[in-house]
Amino acid sequence: MSQAQAYAAQFPSSALAPLSIKRRTPGQLDVAMDILFCGVCHSDLHTARDEWGGSIYPVVPGHEIVGRVTAVGDLVSKFKVGDTVGVGCMVDSCQHCSACADDLEQYCENGFTGTYNSPEQGKPGSNTYGGYSNHLVVRESFVLKISHDAADLAAVAPLLCAGITTYSPLRQWKVGPGHKVGIVGLGGLGHMGVKIAAVMGAHVVLFTTSDNKREDALRMGAKEVVNSKNAAEMAQHTGTFDFILNTVAAPHNLDAFLVLLKLDGTMTLVGAPASPHPSPGVFNLIMKRRRLAGSLIGGIRETQEMLDFCAEHGILSDIETIRMDEINTAYERMLKSDVKYRFVVDMATLAA
Ligand code: NAP
Ligand code: ZN
Repeated sequence: MSQAQAYAAQFPSSALAPLSIKRRTPGQLDVAMDILFCGVCHSDLHTARDEWGGSIYPVVPGHEIVGRVTAVGDLVSKFKVGDTVGVGCMVDSCQHCSACADDLEQYCENGFTGTYNSPEQGKPGSNTYGGYSNHLVVRESFVLKISHDAADLAAVAPLLCAGITTYSPLRQWKVGPGHKVGIVGLGGLGHMGVKIAAVMGAHVVLFTTSDNKREDALRMGAKEVVNSKNAAEMAQHTGTFDFILNTVAAPHNLDAFLVLLKLDGTMTLVGAPASPHPSPGVFNLIMKRRRLAGSLIGGIRETQEMLDFCAEHGILSDIETIRMDEINTAYERMLKSDVKYRFVVDMATLAA
């Protein structure tokens, strides 16, 4: 066991504050790392405030982690001391069900181990602590290689959740040239979705509730920007989309987007609001064989593929770097959609 410094919520309405936690002694298959940067995902806020239910306190959030390896177990072959590595939303899974065998650990039939707020495999009652911390120990098979330039590491951190959560459904629904693709919401996930879908060759349309994000979306690769609160603007796109990726973190009217899909078009939800969306009407679905789907992060193999894809194409997150003690203000700004476009904690500020 070793002591690590962290930032934690002690109950749903508490501000996050310093906490000393224990990390396990690295086993033969483990990689120990110092955390350099950790992105701030809206899921961190949902969990810290128990908005989904099931939070176990103290909650140490953080699952967009870039670190430097400090030690490796005897049987670790892929990493060595000094390597730059990433850790995303999962740190383990059963490794033997059919989903795990298919590199889809996020759908592990026995439940994957989340990077935070999750029991370790085979240890009911235990609880993982995430990346708002200076040190972490993770099983080798859940550690990712980072090949981006050292100067870009803070802007790489958000790829570990926001990047893979948008890349995976864009790949699953085979987005590419000739496709008209909508991204709903220009937050952490949405801005990665715009960048990745544009590089995949799609005609990208951003739907936003914030008119002041228009120029940024165009710079990131969107060809058109639609204010989703403006019915006339929305109506111009009725029945024209092959695919829509909806990243919004709050309940809203899904029908307004479903009618924009063409025959056999799909809208995939990745946003996970604390309370349900109003149920969409059936007729918008059946009249054009439209589909409403969901998607959860991505498997480890696909996460590595996404990191390599982003390194190759120069894709980074647009970030605002913060100190660890600014996290509570960052959460309030995230709730106001006032993030451009991901907060990333510089973990060197935790010691300070
Ligand atoms: P975020 O940075 O807060 O972005 C959400 C965006 O949604 C906002 O920037 C805003 O964009 C839009 N929005 C917010 N409130 C809205 C409202 N009332 N009506 C319409 N649009 C609204 O959050 P994030 O980190 O990207 O996460 C988004 C959601 O995805 C969260 O619920 C999170 O838990 C979930 N998530 C899911 C997965 C998964 O695997 N499925 C993984 C990670 C996160 P505009 O200003 O452009 O409108
Ligand atoms: Zn996340």
